[in-house]
Amino acid sequence: MKVEFLGAAGEVTGSCCLVEINGMRLLLDCGLIQGSRADEARNAQDFAFDPTRLDAVVLSHAHIDHSGRLPLLVRRGYRGPIYTHRATRGLCRVLLPDSASLSRRDAELESRRRARKGLPPVEPLYGADDVADTLRQFRSLDFDAWQDLLPGVRLRLHEAGHILGAASIELELTHDGLRRTLIYSGDLGSYDMPIVRDPAAITKADALIMESTYGDRDHRSHEATLAELKDILTSADHDAGNIIIPAFAVGRTQDLLYLFGKHWDDWGMERWKVYLDSPMAIQASQLYISHSELHDEETRELSTAKSFMPPLPNLTLCKSPEESMRLNHVRSGAIIIAGSGMCSGGRVLHHLKHNVWRPECHIVIVGFQARGTLGRRLVERQPWVRIHGEAMRVEAQVHTVGGMSAHAGQRELLRWYGSFEPAPPTWLIHGEPAARAALAQRLVDDFGTAVTEPAHGDGIDLVTLEGLHGHPTAAASAS
Ligand SMILES: [Zn+2]
Ligand SMILES: [Zn+2]
Repeated sequence: MKVEFLGAAGEVTGSCCLVEINGMRLLLDCGLIQGSRADEARNAQDFAFDPTRLDAVVLSHAHIDHSGRLPLLVRRGYRGPIYTHRATRGLCRVLLPDSASLSRRDAELESRRRARKGLPPVEPLYGADDVADTLRQFRSLDFDAWQDLLPGVRLRLHEAGHILGAASIELELTHDGLRRTLIYSGDLGSYDMPIVRDPAAITKADALIMESTYGDRDHRSHEATLAELKDILTSADHDAGNIIIPAFAVGRTQDLLYLFGKHWDDWGMERWKVYLDSPMAIQASQLYISHSELHDEETRELSTAKSFMPPLPNLTLCKSPEESMRLNHVRSGAIIIAGSGMCSGGRVLHHLKHNVWRPECHIVIVGFQARGTLGRRLVERQPWVRIHGEAMRVEAQVHTVGGMSAHAGQRELLRWYGSFEPAPPTWLIHGEPAARAALAQRLVDDFGTAVTEPAHGDGIDLVTLEGLHGHPTAAASAS
């Protein structure tokens, strides 16, 4: 009975944990590594296990850093079930095909680069066929209901309050009369976020695997964040430029549209035209609307329109590339929400290209930006950036609105942890080293927790509840 950490150990992306019990193998998440080209090259490496010998997969939520290598798993021979919340299944129908086309585009670019050096071309990680096969292996679950997974393994999903359908995973494992409860937090949301409910309080765990993305800092309060957004809108209106908001298709996009509608009068939203320039975000928004059973109370009260909740009359949905390109000529008065969320590709690059060098424009960063991405360079206020190979001076004002994050800040992570009684031994993942070290220290100080910061290949012995050390040679390449 053990766990092995095979991703997001000392970094944020590439979540993947292997659980072994009674001779069976179960995978928790199978995410894509995102960041610099060297980081992303690790996605194509062999899995540390044989995909044909896995018995089940459980997926915490739809974000690509958790789901993005599932089609690769299937391509390499996994034929078993992929259990997840039914809303996550819906969101994966939107996100995974896009991931396949990004992977195709990346492979084409890399192959051209290699051709110039006389090297053979590279294959995409996976294609649309692999995605279709993967989606057929999904099994839908609801929150709070027990599911028998394998002999001696039961599963229950808890609301994680992060994005629609996002779950913390509870595994009840029984071996030789010994019963262990393993909790895998998945990504935890902020309390009082728009639309989705708060993370559920879980009370019992023998071992806890917990995220630590923002383990070293608190986000601004909800009120301060709303005031900040209102101020940005006011000064951007005064500057008479555009506002560009790079956003993931799922989560922040729907939160923004929700807030724009809710604060229509107070924020003077009639001065703006809002463009949702992402076919994926449009589809994801429709899923958010249709899953009203997952909405929090405030959202239910404000939901009047069939389209957006609350209604946003100045919203334009840009589906076609032509509609997107038309925005290149808009000089002022536009709020453009487009992906990718870390500016590593997608339509947002075109909008940044047309606006980043203009001092009257504003760029609003609302999500986490991984090392090595263009979004991270913007957050770090680097004076020059390179877009589509062209160097550009950053003259636009860049705002980082941390309070919009879909991730709990330090105080909220501690609040979530505080529901456990007694404090379980904890393994921290899904955080850069400084963030998780800070959270580890707080868990020790506040709760006396036995905390481990595992490296790639380390694990948990679920019988003794002690850490296992992997082989240093199996570690991910230093990044
Ligand atoms: Zn996530
Ligand atoms: Zn994540």
